Amino acid sequence: MANQGAGGGRGKVVVIGGGIAGSYIAKTLQFHGNLTLIDPKEYLEIPWASLRGMVEPTFAERSLIEHKDYLTGSRLIVSNAIDISDSEVLTSEGRLVPYDYLVIATGHGDPLPKSRAERLKQYQAGKINPNPKQS
Ligand SMILES: Cc1cc2nc3c(=O)[nH]c(=O)nc-3n(C[C@H](O)[C@H](O)[C@H](O)COP(=O)(O)OP(=O)(O)OC[C@H]3O[C@@H](n4cnc5c(N)ncnc54)[C@H](O)[C@@H]3O)c2cc1C
Repeated sequence: MANQGAGGGRGKVVVIGGGIAGSYIAKTLQFHGNLTLIDPKEYLEIPWASLRGMVEPTFAERSLIEHKDYLTGSRLIVSNAIDISDSEVLTSEGRLVPYDYLVIATGHGDPLPKSRAERLKQYQAGKINPNPKQS
């Protein structure tokens, strides 16, 4: 039998955006389809925990969650989606990601570091702006 991947050969689901909505959807659907999450960050940041993380940086260690830690049955592409067609998503690296079902959960796109370690360093250095677009 051909390798049908973690989704058991069912439809290809692509989720764009690994914030609160996209991460929750990806975690929930990961074993029901062949799922790919596209996000420019390697981690989910829980936004409403950022204020506490600013005054207590160790708290950020719990509110910055690597996508790979909860996405055990799917694929992560660390990139921005820059275009979509009826059947594919184009990433900023020029990669085409085919889909049968597409979830767009891009919320707001603040310029945050790509890695959890870099983001934790910002908390530890007290360099967090909870609303970067107003800086
Ligand atoms: C300080 C703070 C406190 C808050 N407190 C509360 C609260 O107490 N209660 C509450 O209900 N809400 C609160 N909110 C609001 C809540 O965080 C948002 O409503 C929620 O995060 C929206 O989730 P989302 O998944 O739609 O978008 P987001 O969380 O904004 O996630 C969007 C994701 O999409 C990614 N993305 C963007 N563009 C692209 C692209 N082109 N390609 C791929 N990925 C992309 C981003 O990197 C991000 O990971 C708070 C927000 C902040 C900032």
